[in-house]
Amino acid sequence: MNKTVYQIAVLPGDGIGVEIVPEAIKVLKQAGERYHLEFKFTEALIGGVAIDAVGKALPEETLEICRNSDAVLLGAIGGPKWDQLPAQERPEAAALLPLRKALGLFANLRPVTVYPALIGASTLKPDIIEGVDLIVFRELTGGLYFGNKARRPIESGEEAIDTLIYTTPEIERITRLAFEAARKRRKKVTSIDKANVLESSRLWRETVIRLSADYPDIELEHMYVDNCAMQLIRYPKQFDVILTENMFGDILTDEASMLTGSIGMLASASLGGQVALYEPAHGSAPDIAGQKKANPLATILSAAMMLRYSFNQESAAQAIEKAVVSVLDEKYRTGDLMEPGMKAVNMEEMGDLVAQKLV
Ligand code: NAD
Repeated sequence: MNKTVYQIAVLPGDGIGVEIVPEAIKVLKQAGERYHLEFKFTEALIGGVAIDAVGKALPEETLEICRNSDAVLLGAIGGPKWDQLPAQERPEAAALLPLRKALGLFANLRPVTVYPALIGASTLKPDIIEGVDLIVFRELTGGLYFGNKARRPIESGEEAIDTLIYTTPEIERITRLAFEAARKRRKKVTSIDKANVLESSRLWRETVIRLSADYPDIELEHMYVDNCAMQLIRYPKQFDVILTENMFGDILTDEASMLTGSIGMLASASLGGQVALYEPAHGSAPDIAGQKKANPLATILSAAMMLRYSFNQESAAQAIEKAVVSVLDEKYRTGDLMEPGMKAVNMEEMGDLVAQKLV
């Protein structure tokens, strides 16, 4: 049988990035064997290692490789070695934001799934988090982080200005993605804003309501961001798809990550342009880098998202997710998830166990 061939740009980056990405590749290859998919991996430099090698955190060659691929798999970037660089030259600012911009990635998707086997690993009570399965759609290229900034002297000191701008098309495109996703899930969208005080939020809410007419099968609910922050830990099961703007999403996704127990479990996808990007939600974890201690599951689950969203290979995506669940059910744990009575494994062993489930 002819295999479908997918080109994947691989950007391991710094710290644990170089360790966890090969684990995800191992699992992807195994899933490929089972579902007759062929992956061609092209590795490129990004982050601190790119600064050291060629003097730029995001080399033009890396961008070209990404643009010519079907999807991008990223590890993590940054670390103490590059912390003393000026803010705009540090790996995160000089590589991640320009990469998202260059690829037109306006939507960040972060699923928050509480696995039954890991309920004890969360700081929240089991009955609150049991069965939580939500996904946040965060707008990624507009709002306060991208608006004009200024500082100017005033009589009593200084004045600082950040500009919060949203346009109708920016709101429409992420709203449509969220509604489409809800159709494949439990058919509920909760749109988060601060429409009681912010004009950009009023436009956000009006736009979401207008588009909702095209999705009569989806239940739409609006919630102020302060209430959402409270509801996420009070009764997180009420959420299916959360739709929100850039800064609210930044804060709420970090809060939501605590429902799952470890940041090492959180996958993410950034969509919008021709080529989407998949990466774990965590950073380069310099404190455990090079010791095979990192949990590779967030990266492996990001690879599953790639199969789902970029390649439309739902069965293969689900097979990886099920493999992760059964390895956890069998009590295997990396250090970040370790509890009494569980079986400790290192990063490579965890990757092997997931891959073996796909044979
Ligand atoms: P971090 O996510 O790297 O680490 C926070 C804590 O979580 C650490 O104790 C770390 O050991 C642990 N941790 C993270 N991932 C883990 C995993 N897979 N398995 C087990 N434990 C894990 O955040 P930080 O320490 O604030 O940042 C470290 C560096 O990463 C900084 O340079 C930061 O700027 C960068 N960073 C990069 C990204 C990215 O590449 N997208 C995101 C966040 C932070």
